[in-house]
Amino acid sequence: MKDELEGIIIRYQEYREHDAILHVLCRKRGIVHVNARGIQKVKSKNAPACQLFTHVRMQLPLQETRSIYTLRSAEIIEGYRHIREDLLKQSIAAYVCECIDASKFEEDVFEVVQTVLDILQETTHPIRILCLFQAIMNRMHGIEPYVDGCVRCGNQKAIYAISIRDGGFICHSCYRMEQDAMRSKEDLKVFRLLCKAHMEHYDILKSYQAFTYQNFEDLYAFFYEYAGISLKSVKFLKTIIAM
Ligand SMILES: [Zn+2]
Repeated sequence: MKDELEGIIIRYQEYREHDAILHVLCRKRGIVHVNARGIQKVKSKNAPACQLFTHVRMQLPLQETRSIYTLRSAEIIEGYRHIREDLLKQSIAAYVCECIDASKFEEDVFEVVQTVLDILQETTHPIRILCLFQAIMNRMHGIEPYVDGCVRCGNQKAIYAISIRDGGFICHSCYRMEQDAMRSKEDLKVFRLLCKAHMEHYDILKSYQAFTYQNFEDLYAFFYEYAGISLKSVKFLKTIIAM
C-alpha cells in the first residue's frame, strides 16, 4: 500500500496552537481525517497545499490502523487560484465543502465536488453552478420538490407559487398567500429545470437566462427545512451575494 493520499480538503479545523485537523475527500475512500502538525506556523512548507478546497496529494503513513493519519508532506495538484481571488466564488466553494462534509454521504461524491470546483474556477456566472449543486444536494438528501403540477390538486396549468410545507408547485386556484411563495413564470421554469437537472446537464443550463440568487434561495429553503443539517457558511454566502 502506497503511503499516498489524493483528495480535496473540505474542512480545515484549527487544532492546538500550531496544528490543524483536515477532512480530505478522496475518490472511493470518502472522507479521511488528517492531522497536519505545525501547519499554522509561518514557516510551514505544507501550509499552501492544505488550504480549504485545494486538490492535494499527501504523503502519510496509511498503514496505521488509526482513524486519523499524521501528515508528512503535501503538494498541490490544483489550487483553484481563480476561486481564491474572487470573494463570491470563494464563499460558494466554502459552502460546497461544508455541505459535503456535513452530509456524510455513503456515495462517492469526489467527482461532484471536483466538477463543481472546476466549473466555479472558469465561470463568469458562479450562481448557476451553485444552483445546480444545491439541486443535486437536495436530490441526494431525498428532498425532491414536486414540479410536474400543483402539489395540492394536480393541475398542470396556471402554476403560480412554491410551497415548502407541501413540497412543490402550487397552482393559481390553490394559492394561499400566507404560506406559499409566489414566483414569476421565469423563476418557476428555472426552478423546475434545476429540480430535474444532473451534473451532466450543466452545458444545457448555460443556454438559459442568468440564474438568480432567488433560484438558489428557493432550492435552499427546501434543504433548510428538510435536510436536518445546519450550515454556518451559508450565512456568509448570503451576505456576499446580497452585496
Ligand atoms: Zn392546485
